[in-house]
Amino acid sequence: MSGLYENTINQIQTAATIMGLSEPVRKALSEPQKIHWVTFPVQRDNGEIDIFEGYRVQHNNWAGPYKGGIRFSDNVDLDEVKALSAWMTIKCSVVGIPLGGGKGGVKVDAKSLSKTEKEKLTRGFVRSIADYIGPDIDVPAPDMYTDGQVMAWATDEYMKLKGGSSKALGVFTGKPLEFGGSAGREQATAQGGVYVLTKYAEMHNLDPKNSTVIIQGFGNAGANAAELLSAHGYKIIGISDSSGGLICQDGFDVAQAISCKVEFGSVMKCEHTTLNYDAIKSQNGVKQVTNEELLESECDILFLSALENQVTIKNAANIKAKIIVELANGPVTPEADAILKGKTEVLPDILMNAGGVTVSYFEMVQNSYGYYWQPDEVQTRLKAIMEAAYEKVESVKSTYNCTYREASFITALKRLENLANIRGVFS
Ligand code: NAD
Repeated sequence: MSGLYENTINQIQTAATIMGLSEPVRKALSEPQKIHWVTFPVQRDNGEIDIFEGYRVQHNNWAGPYKGGIRFSDNVDLDEVKALSAWMTIKCSVVGIPLGGGKGGVKVDAKSLSKTEKEKLTRGFVRSIADYIGPDIDVPAPDMYTDGQVMAWATDEYMKLKGGSSKALGVFTGKPLEFGGSAGREQATAQGGVYVLTKYAEMHNLDPKNSTVIIQGFGNAGANAAELLSAHGYKIIGISDSSGGLICQDGFDVAQAISCKVEFGSVMKCEHTTLNYDAIKSQNGVKQVTNEELLESECDILFLSALENQVTIKNAANIKAKIIVELANGPVTPEADAILKGKTEVLPDILMNAGGVTVSYFEMVQNSYGYYWQPDEVQTRLKAIMEAAYEKVESVKSTYNCTYREASFITALKRLENLANIRGVFS
C-alpha cells in the first residue's frame, strides 16, 4: 500500500488532470508550505522524564489561517500529518470557508497517559509550537485522543505564553462551551454528514425508512451519526469499535447503545441494546463479528467513522453496501476506490466530515467578536453551508461525469485556483 501522503497527492493529481488545473497551482498544492518538527520533555507520574516527538504541518494558507486538528497517537508520523494537512486545505475549500489546511500530532500511546501526564504533554507541545500558531495564523482543534479538555489546557498555555486577550481565545477550537466553545461542535462532524446524506437521499430517491446502516467506529463521529440517522428513520443494524462489532437485523436502540458504550467502554458489551430485545434469542439474533466481517456485511449504507485505510485492495471487492459515507479521514484507499466504482457510491471524507471544521470556523468567528450563537443558529448556518457544498459537488459531478470524490476535489481546486489568481500568489 502506498503512503497516505502519496495517496492524497494522487487524489489531487487525478482531479487536477480531469479539470485541467494550472501547473503552478498543482505544484504548489503538492507540498506543504511549512513543516514544524519538535521534541519536548514530559515528566511522568513516576518522576521519569520522557522525550516526545510532535509535528505541526502547515499545508496551505491562501484561503485563510491554517486549520486542522491535533492527534495524540502511536501512529503519528510525518507522512500521516502531511496527508491530513493537505486534506484540510481541500476540505475547507470544498465548503468555501476562509481557512487553509494544517494538521498536528504527537507520537504517543494516548491510552497510557494519566490525566496529569496528558495535561503536561498538551502544555509541552503547545510551548513547542506556540510561535507558529495563533488566531490569525494557524488554529488547531481536537482530533483522535484529544478533546475539549485538551483544547482548554492548550488555550490556557498559549494565553500564558502570549497574553490572555479575549482575541487569543480563538487560537484553538473545539473548546468547552464554558471557555469559548461553540454550541453544536460535539455533533458537528456527524451532523454535517447527515445534512448532506439527507439532501442526497432527496435527490436520489433513497428512503431512510427502508435503509439499513452499519457504523464502523462508535466514537464522536460514529455514535453521533448513529443517533441522528436513527432519528431520521434509518435502521442501524451494525455498530463497532476497536474491540469488534455487533450486527442485528432488527436494529439497535442507539441511545441505549451509546449509554452502554459509555458505561462499559466497548460495544461488545452492548448486545442487549437491540430494538427488539427478543432478537437476542431469535434466529435474527445479535451476531458478534470481527471488524473485517462488519465491513463486508449486507447493508444499504456503510458509515466509516474510525480510521484511515479500512477499505483497501484486500476487501473492496467484498463490500456489499450500496453507499459508503466516509466520516473518518481516508478510510477508503485509492485502489479500493477503483474497485468500488460503479458498484458502491462513495460519499467522500472531504465533503462528508467537513461539518466539524465548519463549526470550528463558527467558533473562531464567535471568539473574535465575543458574542455566542444559540444552538439553532449554529445548525441553520451549518445546514446552509453543507447543502450548498453538496449541490456544488453534484453539479461538478455531472459536468465532468466523475465520482463524488473527484467532484469534491475539483470543486475545492477550482476555488483554490481562483484564489491564487485573484491574490496573485505566484507574483
Ligand atoms: P473517536 O476517538 O471519538 O472515535 C473513534 C472510534 O473508532 C472509537 O469508537 C474506536 O474504538 C473506534 N475504532 C478504532 N479502531 C477501530 C477499528 N479498527 N474498527 C472499528 N472501530 C475502531 O474519534 P472521532 O473523533 O470519532 O474520529 C473518527 C474519525 O473521524 C477519525 O478519522 C477522525 O480524523 C475523523 N474526523 C473526526 C472529526 C471530529 O470532529 N470528531 C472531524 C473530522 C474527521
